[in-house]
Amino acid sequence: MTTPATTPTVFDVQRIRADFPLLARSVHGKPLVYFDNANTSQKPVTVIEAMNTHYREHNANVSRAVHQLGEEATAAYEGARDKLAQFINAPSRNELILTSGTTQAINLVAYSYALPRLAPGDAILTTVMEHHANIVPWQLVAQRSGAMVKAAPINQRGELIVEQYLAMLTPEVKLACVTHVSNVLGTVNPVREIARECRRRGIPLLVDGSQAVPHRPVDVQALGCDFYAFTGHKMLAPTGTGGLWAKREHLEAMPPFFGGGEMIREVRFDGTTFAAPPHKFEAGTPNIAGFVGLAAAIDYYHSVGFEAIHVHEQQLLAYATERLRDVPGLRIFGEAAEKEPVISFLIEGAQATDMATLLDLQGIAVRSGHHCAHPLMQFYGVPATLRASLAFYNTREEIDHFVTALLKVRKLLM
Ligand code: PLP
Repeated sequence: MTTPATTPTVFDVQRIRADFPLLARSVHGKPLVYFDNANTSQKPVTVIEAMNTHYREHNANVSRAVHQLGEEATAAYEGARDKLAQFINAPSRNELILTSGTTQAINLVAYSYALPRLAPGDAILTTVMEHHANIVPWQLVAQRSGAMVKAAPINQRGELIVEQYLAMLTPEVKLACVTHVSNVLGTVNPVREIARECRRRGIPLLVDGSQAVPHRPVDVQALGCDFYAFTGHKMLAPTGTGGLWAKREHLEAMPPFFGGGEMIREVRFDGTTFAAPPHKFEAGTPNIAGFVGLAAAIDYYHSVGFEAIHVHEQQLLAYATERLRDVPGLRIFGEAAEKEPVISFLIEGAQATDMATLLDLQGIAVRSGHHCAHPLMQFYGVPATLRASLAFYNTREEIDHFVTALLKVRKLLM
């Protein structure tokens, strides 16, 4: 990844917070504490302004018009692809398909790559800790093809049991999948090691990077996977943006998934031909302004620097984990050795939704529920958890406020 030119030497969280207008608002008369970042992140003013400027000054459709505005819009959209390709260290911009997010990216692989290759008796390997987006598309194509979906287990600490994952990479597995970082547990999975073993066995690997890209520099070449799917709205960018990076050989072999404008070379009733990747997979008018915002989000990450982000977030994670241990009856789900700043928990005797509702009245936004991870909830034998997910713009003071509110809410519910 390119070294940011403007990395500050000191991490000034208050200066950073000033870049996020929404963080200044209050909720129910209380200052907002936004701890729902794994759900979606807040957006810096530069992202909001970039989209605003796009609509005010450059708005046109892409790749269709030779007029000035059309060229500007195309340059902005394709420029975002360049930036994003560089952000994840893709070997080529043409290996990066711009999607509406992870869900669309994984479904594209499911229908365009997996389905034509699956036969009865084949399998797709995923894990118990996946988001539904990395389970349900595989179940749908398995149903159509007579293949099955296998799920590798985790341990009580919320870590993937890697030996078992590798043991499940049997010859009938046609595609292996794993999340880079769990959206519920914060667990960071050893993707490089898994990718190496997949390569040894000739099994392609898809990685769900949704919860990794907001926190760490991702290098798809170093990871050694075949497909890397991610979503923009969790990494400071607008909703409806994301991407799928895939190895060129796969993209060339994959048929288009959506058909329509923009993705063709020539349309004839005796045989339509398609554009080369990535455009072959981008039918219709894309979310142009959204990707303009995403490009600004990447610039913002570079201006802060992932090293500084990592240090601050890990300090917040350690501090929050330690403070939460003071809350009587509180159980944390996910105690992996390597974690991103996501803390799922329950308090004995209190319902997750009641707690989230009462916390909201204190201005604190956390998520309660199954977090689109039913199999993980089944593993722990709980219907729901509370999840506090932090970002680099959060502070220790917010954690103090959160713990104080939690103690108060607990008392109310006991
Ligand atoms: N995978 C993981 C790990 C997630 O956390 C999420 C979103 O919560 C998704 C996939 C789905 O992302 P999107 O809804 O942006 O497609």
